[in-house]
Order: sequence, then structure tokens, then C-alpha cells
Amino acid sequence: MTPPAREPALYAGVEAGGTKFVCIAGRGPDDIRAEVRFPTTRPETTLRQVLEFLREQRTRLGEFAAAGVASFGPVDLDPASTAYGHITSTPKPGWAHTDIVGPIRKALGVPVGFDTDVNAAALAEGRWGRAQGLDSFIYLTVGTGIGGGGLVDGRLMHGLVHPEMGHVRIPHDAADPFAGACPYHRDCLEGLASGPALQARWGRPAEELPDGHPAWALEAQYLALALANFVCTLSPRRIILGGGVMDRVALFPLIRARLQALLNDYVQAPEILREIDAYVVPPALGARTGVLGALALARAAAEPPRPS
Ligand code: ZN
Repeated sequence: MTPPAREPALYAGVEAGGTKFVCIAGRGPDDIRAEVRFPTTRPETTLRQVLEFLREQRTRLGEFAAAGVASFGPVDLDPASTAYGHITSTPKPGWAHTDIVGPIRKALGVPVGFDTDVNAAALAEGRWGRAQGLDSFIYLTVGTGIGGGGLVDGRLMHGLVHPEMGHVRIPHDAADPFAGACPYHRDCLEGLASGPALQARWGRPAEELPDGHPAWALEAQYLALALANFVCTLSPRRIILGGGVMDRVALFPLIRARLQALLNDYVQAPEILREIDAYVVPPALGARTGVLGALALARAAAEPPRPS
């Protein structure tokens, strides 16, 4: 008699955002067994809600093979560091130096994958979305803040800390009198092109600015300047742009045209010269990219490490 087929492993995903947390239990985009979301308040309250959900689902669905945490940052990703798994220097009240991985690992007793929200989102798009089969690509989110992650040669970008693509310096448009909104750098990319920067510059929320408003040409210019730098430094095979500001679909053609103009035929790749519509794209996983990123981190944590 053949034994019954073993059910594939179940994973837990926690998207730790600055304004909300989303937790899921499941196997992938098409197999989510439970989902909960709640606002980010004090760390002790929010983490208690996370653990309650995870314990409840473990009782209901069975053991998890691994968990994944996709977190707002900055975070400590160095496994050799005593602060590994912690949020580090965030200005978000109460959250600086919060251990986010430790309590989950202790509660579940399984491996816990941990990375930035944007690296996790990139991993999800690589596994299930717009970057399947690509070994090098970028995921950039443009919303309340700007952040980027992705793969280079099949590995998530880490290093000294982790990439901070939102804080690259770009030329400040001479006709733009707005000083910039970044508390650290004023007119870095995030300071000039995040949702709050748009609101501060134009006096109303980005979603209220009509498609033809000059705000969008300037926004496309700033984002394309940063993308040109990323193309020249990281050589991504695709660029995925997510986040609330990128819900403005009219921005995509503006950014693509500016990126081509800025690169000026220097990077001789058909993806940029002729197939730019498939090169700068929105995420395929939509609003769930973040929490599916956490699930992708869990799956990666359960897999044997790649040989280096
Ligand atoms: Zn900055």
C-alpha cells in the first residue's frame, strides 16, 4: 500500500510595517490559510498580537516548517551580530533596538528568515511574480518612504548593512524650489520623491494630483535619475516599481521615457533600448507583495543554504 502523500510544508509570514503588520500562514500566493492585519502600535502590544496569531494558527493548521519576517528598517541582518533580528535606529517611537526575530523563534522553535521589507518583496516577485527566472533585478518601493532591494547574481543584496536605495543623492532640479523632506539628507531621492515629499511640495496628497499635473513629470525625472544610477551600478535585468505612489499608472511611461533619455543609448541592451515596457514594471503580486515576501523568506530559511 502506498503511504498517503505528505502535505507540503506550511510557513508563517510576518510583514512588519511602520504603519501596519500583516501576518499569514500558508504555502504561497495561491494557498494562504489565514491572514490578519493590525496597526503598528507599541512593540510589546504589536508583537504580542503577532505571537497570538502564530500560536493560534499552529494549533489550527499544524506545525510551521519555518517563519519569515519582512521588516521596516533599518535592521541588523548580520547573523554574527548580537543585534541580529533587531530593528536598529528607527525614528519610529518605541521601536528602536526592538528584537523582532527572537520572540518568534522562541515561540515557534523553527528557523526564522529575516530581511528588509524590500529585499523580501523582491524575493517574492522572484519566486512568484514579475522576476521569475531572473538572477539580477531590483524592487523599489515608492510610498511613505523609498526603499530598494533585489538580487545580484541570485543572491539578495546585503553587505555592510543593507542597501538604502531611497537615500541616494540625485541632482536637485533647478526649477524645483522644494528643499526636500528627508530628515537626514533633505534632498536625497526619498526627500524629493516620496509620497510625503509630493504632498509637501504641491500642498495636497499625491493621489489628489491629476495625471496631467506637472508634479508627475518632475516625479518621473527624479525616479529615472535614481534608476539610471542603479542600472549603471547594479545592471539589473528588470526593475519592479511598487508602493503607493506607483499606483499612479501614468507614471510608468513617463519614467521609462526619462530613463531611456538619461541613459542616451549608452547601455546597449535591447531590454532598455527597445523593450523598456517590460523592463520597468509594476509588481505582479500587488498589495500582497510585502507579506508574500515574508513567506518567501520563510521558505528560503527552510531550504539548505546555497554553496558559496
Ligand atoms: Zn535621505
